[in-house]
Amino acid sequence: MIPYGRQSVDESDIEAVVEVLRGDWLTTGPTVTAFEKALEDLSGATRCVSCTSGTAALHIGYAAAGVGAGDEVVTTPMTFVATATSAMALGAKVRFVDVEDDTLNIDPALVEDAITERTKVVAGVDYAGHPIEIDELRPITERTGTLLLEDAAHSIGSTYKGRPVGSLSDITTFSFFPTKNLTSAEGGAVATLDRELGQRAHEFHFIGLVRDPERMRHPDEGPWHQEVHEVGLNYRLPDVLCALGLSQLRRLTAFKTRRAEIFARYQEGLAGLEGVRLPTQREHVDPIWHLYPLRVLEGRRREVFDALRNDGVGVQVNYMPAHWHPVFEDLGYRRGQFPVAEKFYGEEISLPMFVGLRDSDIDHVIDAVHRAVRG
Ligand SMILES: *Cc1c(COP(=O)(O)O)cnc(C)c1O
Repeated sequence: MIPYGRQSVDESDIEAVVEVLRGDWLTTGPTVTAFEKALEDLSGATRCVSCTSGTAALHIGYAAAGVGAGDEVVTTPMTFVATATSAMALGAKVRFVDVEDDTLNIDPALVEDAITERTKVVAGVDYAGHPIEIDELRPITERTGTLLLEDAAHSIGSTYKGRPVGSLSDITTFSFFPTKNLTSAEGGAVATLDRELGQRAHEFHFIGLVRDPERMRHPDEGPWHQEVHEVGLNYRLPDVLCALGLSQLRRLTAFKTRRAEIFARYQEGLAGLEGVRLPTQREHVDPIWHLYPLRVLEGRRREVFDALRNDGVGVQVNYMPAHWHPVFEDLGYRRGQFPVAEKFYGEEISLPMFVGLRDSDIDHVIDAVHRAVRG
């Protein structure tokens, strides 16, 4: 079975990890600093904080934004559920708004109406790698005094009007899970252009420890002294995993090129096939394609999905709308509330998309899709 996604780990990645294992630091050491610096160089953010997962990055991002009990977060249902639940972990209420039909990203036209005086954050997701519509969203968050958080679990390496993801929103979060565009096994990061948000993110992921004598309330305690001023957790990504992440980051340009080739081969091989709709991209973005979301029309998604699996093609569905999860159902969210996202979910199949996919594999997938759709 061809999987729908998998990591690409080569000898350079293995050597980088082994080198750290032979050294003095297993966790918070020079490789954490080097990885965060490399993420800053790539994303154009002034501060990046590495952490243990994309979910942790979201939790840290919302905490840094000051999200707490009674606050509201406006977000999209077309995402992995962590975009929403990580805000709920801080006591926030989630307000979903529907997505746009071409990109499946949060619809800026619906965002402003969902904002109340309790809204702290508007959180968009760069679905499949396609950046959110920043130039429409930013004026709304600026006007309403809210912060824009971009869940870029799919899109490290994408650009919007020539600007890199990581430099577009108040807070950007990445995931380095193995199926994503680059991996550190488990891992993630928070990126920001705001020094204060960056420092708050750093402290939240570091148990809340304050070590700067200038900021201490009791600086004369002794040389061992450190203080906690606000609640934090331990979300530190160790040197060993930062070594893998840093090595993978050096390969990101090659990863992006290969993903673009795979995307283009699917577009060509599936062009003109009736009963499906192919993904599109807006002119002003340059995405790194994390997913290839094919839409199967006329209520035939399940049939085509099963046929592909039976034909050795490990397809996936991304995603069941977040508000369909029982955790939201139990709070009163209902099916039918977000028709664009829900219709898309009913049609979507993610075709295999990963760097190690060979041209012959892609052609096999294309043939299998033709067979399955023609019935
Ligand atoms: C993968 C993913 C996450 C969570 O990342 P983990 O590293 O798996 O915790 C969050 N949001 C989106 C959109 C994702 O795809």
